[in-house]
Amino acid sequence: MTNVSFYPIGTVGEKWGDAEKAAWFASTQIKRSYQDNVVTPLKAMGSQLGVLGLSVVQYGALSIDPARYPLFAVKSATFDPNKITVLVTGGVHGYETSGVHGALAFLANNAAHYVERVNLVVAVCVSPWGYETINRWNPKAIDPNRSFYTKSPAEESAALMALVASVPQGFDVHVDLHETTDSDEEEFRPALAARDGKAFIPGTIPDGFYAVGDTENPQDAFQKAIIDGVSKVTHIAPADDKGEIIGSTVVQHGVINYLLKALGLCSSVTGCIYNTTTEVYPDSPSATPAECNLAQVAAITSAIDYVLALN
Ligand SMILES: [Zn+2]
Repeated sequence: MTNVSFYPIGTVGEKWGDAEKAAWFASTQIKRSYQDNVVTPLKAMGSQLGVLGLSVVQYGALSIDPARYPLFAVKSATFDPNKITVLVTGGVHGYETSGVHGALAFLANNAAHYVERVNLVVAVCVSPWGYETINRWNPKAIDPNRSFYTKSPAEESAALMALVASVPQGFDVHVDLHETTDSDEEEFRPALAARDGKAFIPGTIPDGFYAVGDTENPQDAFQKAIIDGVSKVTHIAPADDKGEIIGSTVVQHGVINYLLKALGLCSSVTGCIYNTTTEVYPDSPSATPAECNLAQVAAITSAIDYVLALN
């Protein structure tokens, strides 16, 4: 069934111009504090991370308010060419809370287990304005997770691409932490249809965790290892009646593939062999925030463990 979008901004069937994007921006509100929830806990971990040979570095700031939105990554102080190199990204979609807090939890509780064997880069919250306003887009109504390409229009994406480029030896593993939420269907997909002047076609939000691999480099065994690890923490999303999750064919239990690079998705940013996008479902009646964070951590550790076992 096709519904005409009911979104309150813009004219049905017409793409948004600057006035509609400005109206959208004016409708956003600060709902939580990046400083209190992310920056302060990260800085409090500084000495603990330093002992592990990890440094907290600022790799940029959002132009809307650079003092309020500094961009932080935790990096190995030195990169050993004999170790595998791992990238973890949280908060590319700032509203997807467990991506940010899962990355922080991994640093607090799990990084120590890996620093002897891996070089690490963790970008904790790629889109801090989106974190504070609980939004998918950046202030210019751009989705950072469709903007990982040369001359990106999203400064969040461009800053992360520069951080990745600063690691000359490249990456072996990338885990990009996301959620699929009920608000995707209630707010963000209708907004997307309105912005682009398209009809809103309702979809279904899957109940459970799933992973997204690369159609051009699916790495099925790697994705399976992640599903196996996460399934010990939270339930895995079943395929729907069509054998799909959010409109894509389920290629194995809990896994779909996307054309990552063509879509400008973050998980294409390193070009590494072993990459995945996690999709935690926080709105499940049985899921708690703590469980969602643990599911993200399980995805990270399962991904690293899989690749370490190959070496
Ligand atoms: Zn996302």
